[in-house]
Amino acid sequence: MSETQEKTIKIFGHQVPDTDTVVSAIIYAWHYNEVLGKKAEAFVLGSLTKETQYVLDRFEIAVPEVLDEITKEDQIVVVDTNNIHELPEDVLNGELLEIIDHHKLSGGITTDAPVIVTLRPMASTASLIYTIMNPELHPIPNDIAGIMLAAIISDTLEFRSPTTTSEDKIIAETLAEQIGVDIHELATKMFEAKSDISDINPLELILMDSKVFEMNEQKVRVSVIETTSPKMVLDKKDLLKEAMLKHVAEDEGVHEVLLFVIDILNEEATPVVASALGEMMVEGAFGVDLKETENLTLPGVVSRKKQIIPALQG
Ligand code: MN
Ligand code: MN
Repeated sequence: MSETQEKTIKIFGHQVPDTDTVVSAIIYAWHYNEVLGKKAEAFVLGSLTKETQYVLDRFEIAVPEVLDEITKEDQIVVVDTNNIHELPEDVLNGELLEIIDHHKLSGGITTDAPVIVTLRPMASTASLIYTIMNPELHPIPNDIAGIMLAAIISDTLEFRSPTTTSEDKIIAETLAEQIGVDIHELATKMFEAKSDISDINPLELILMDSKVFEMNEQKVRVSVIETTSPKMVLDKKDLLKEAMLKHVAEDEGVHEVLLFVIDILNEEATPVVASALGEMMVEGAFGVDLKETENLTLPGVVSRKKQIIPALQG
């Protein structure tokens, strides 16, 4: 047997990990080990959110180790992103074996050899991974099924997000039935955990769920905070705006920060802008006048991918 076959494959998702990224790395490592018979281990690229921590605690799954370096010796599999800007700078040092993801094709990742790339427009990477598993032949253990269900709930906001496909829903219901968990109960506990922002500072809140997009040759950071208690976030609006301006001033790669506070239960978004440019962008994108009312809401807007970004880029 060659040396490379004995190596442990490192599986990880994007930086600033969310529940789907962490869970997808864990379940895909399980798939590699138990189904494909290849040694693999899940890693994370940062600390976990309270929602993810709740999910791993609840289903008694160990927190993956933080991956702090990728070397030429490493064989890697990337889940839940194909965007090089969401990965560490040394990611291309590693030998990339596979990408499995549900985001738009971003480009930027190049390899020396052909690799397996699986991209599908489903609501979560966890549900995409489910479709390539073969549960009849290789039953999914309850702890793995539990975190998979949680990842689908997280990325779909309990099926509220327009990214949700009928397949995602069927998979979630199948998993819930297997483990005897009530989807709404699990979702409620997850969103409660996520909404506890008491000890998170304004800059961390801005960067917690955040992606940078190119718009009219400007790099715009679009942050969302998904919460069941929007008031708790909006009470800190002035501090958040301060942090947004400071981030723009200090990070040369970002020209503007836009924040959307997503009210999960009422299915609406409240934009928070810190500058005249930000105000113009949001007003143009959604056809609103932000000065009209304090904390103006955008009804029905819950998805950055399907609603916020297309409106801003349109
Ligand atoms: Mn993700
Ligand atoms: Mn995802």
